[in-house]
Formats: sequence, C-alpha cells, structure tokens
Amino acid sequence: MNVQGKTAIITGASSGIGEATAFALANEGANVVLGARRADRLEALQKKIKEETKGEAIVVATDVTVREDVEKLAATAKERFGSIDLLINNAGVMLLSYLKNDHIDEWMQMVDVNVKGVLHGIHAILPGMIEQNSGHIINISSVAGHEVFPAGNVYSATKYAVRALTMGLEKELSKTGIRVTNVSPGPVRTELSDHITDEEVREKFMSNQGKMTPLEPEDIANAIVHAVKQPDRVDTNEIIIRNTN
Ligand code: NDP
Repeated sequence: MNVQGKTAIITGASSGIGEATAFALANEGANVVLGARRADRLEALQKKIKEETKGEAIVVATDVTVREDVEKLAATAKERFGSIDLLINNAGVMLLSYLKNDHIDEWMQMVDVNVKGVLHGIHAILPGMIEQNSGHIINISSVAGHEVFPAGNVYSATKYAVRALTMGLEKELSKTGIRVTNVSPGPVRTELSDHITDEEVREKFMSNQGKMTPLEPEDIANAIVHAVKQPDRVDTNEIIIRNTN
C-alpha cells in the first residue's frame, strides 16, 4: 500500500506506541486521526506532525470504552478525509495485579479498554471498509497474548482476546481486500506500567528495572509501517517483536 494520502485512525495516540505510530504514518504522508482521552497531548502531537511531516493530523477526544465516542471518531475521519484506510486499535491499559489482591475495578477497566475498545473500533469502521473493498485493521495485542505471566492474568486474558478477535477477522475477511494484522510487542519503554497500583507488583517492577533494555515505541511503529507498506497482495497477519536482552 502506498501510505501517501491514506487515512489512518490511531487510538491511544496520546503517548507511547500510538503516538510513535501516528507520527511514523504521518511521516509517510498519511492523514492521521488521533484518538485518546487527553486532548492536550493529542494537540501537541498534531502540532509536531504539522511542523515536521508531510501528513495531516486531526484530533478527536475519544474514550474507547464509549461506543458513541468511537463512532464519532470514525465519522469525523470520514467527513474530513473521505474514507478510512487504516485502523490501529492501540489504546490499552495494563493494570497488573495478583488476583488475590482483588483489584476488581481494574480487571473491569482492562476488559473495557482492551477488549470492548477494540470491538468498538471494528464496529465503527468495518462496514465502510467492506463497502470500499479495501482497508487494513491492525490490533495491538502483546507477548502477554501468547503466554501468561504472574500478576498478568486479566491483562493476558484481554490480550489473548485481542489475538482471537484478530485471527477471526483475518479468516472472515480473507479475499475481501481488507488486511488484518495482530502486533504482539514485548516490553516497550512507555507510560503503560505507570498506572499499576498493586503494591506487590510495583515493588517487583522497581526491583527488576535496569535488568534489561526495553524496546522503544518507534520500534513498534516501524513494524506497523512495514506491514502497511507491503503490496496489496501481502497480508501480514502476525508480528511478534521482543527485545534482544
Ligand atoms: P501508554 O500508556 O503510553 O499508552 C496507552 C494509550 O492508551 C494512551 O494513549 C492512552 O490515552 C490510551 N488509553 C487508555 N485508556 C483509554 C481509553 N479509555 N480511551 C482512549 N484511549 C485510552 O502505553 P503503550 O503505548 O505501551 O500502550 C499501547 C498499547 O500497546 C496497549 O494496548 C498496550 O497493551 C500494548 N502493549 C504495550 C507494551 C509495553 O511494554 N509498553 C507491550 C505489549 C503491548 P489517554 O490516557 O490519553 O486516553
């Protein structure tokens, strides 16, 4: 796909992987539609994209757990740019905790953002992509969608769900011209772990810091751009990216 002039919606574009991916796609000439709750962060990225790339960016404050917000995100993208060619379902939270510590509100939040948020994205764009016989849906899962780590029960459950949804979509959409990619990163240096509240888990995180070099958000953005830029005949279904140490 030639990315120039294509329209991409990126959820969770206010930091980390989503921010880097939006910038990388804009740098390739895409129109990017930035969705997340923190509009000030999205506006800062919009300004950077305007100053440093050939792409165009618009901001739509979005809570992916709210179906109407995601519908508005897609409608605004279509109204502004005419069609939606790419959806990067990236917004996510990783509120690691031991089940015995009973952080039930955080379990529900992970299900709402990581699973329902992805479904809201698919709901909002799939009919349009089917009508135009083209498009690319990229869902961000995790290596935690391939194996379960201590304190990662619920997070892993949501990321396995993301992979299951992606694999099902890939089969449902084969031969439609719509491509589907699951991306499973290992540890990436972002704000993701800042929101963990379980004290036992936080202590473990702190004591493990500095023992390995995480990936950078740009590493994941590069892999996404690679999948997007493949010729139309190529459908990259699964990308796993781990750090080397
Ligand atoms: P960040 O915390 O930096 O980014 C998370 C993004 O999700 C933010 O932009 C945040 O925006 C957005 N978000 C959270 N809740 C909502 C919501 N309710 N509505 C809309 N947006 C929301 O983390 P990462 O960049 O690391 O995470 C991006 C994705 O990558 C996630 O799905 C994560 O699970 C996955 N991942 C990350 C790994 C890592 O090690 N960092 C490894 C494997 C996968 P805002 O708060 O402004 O709404």
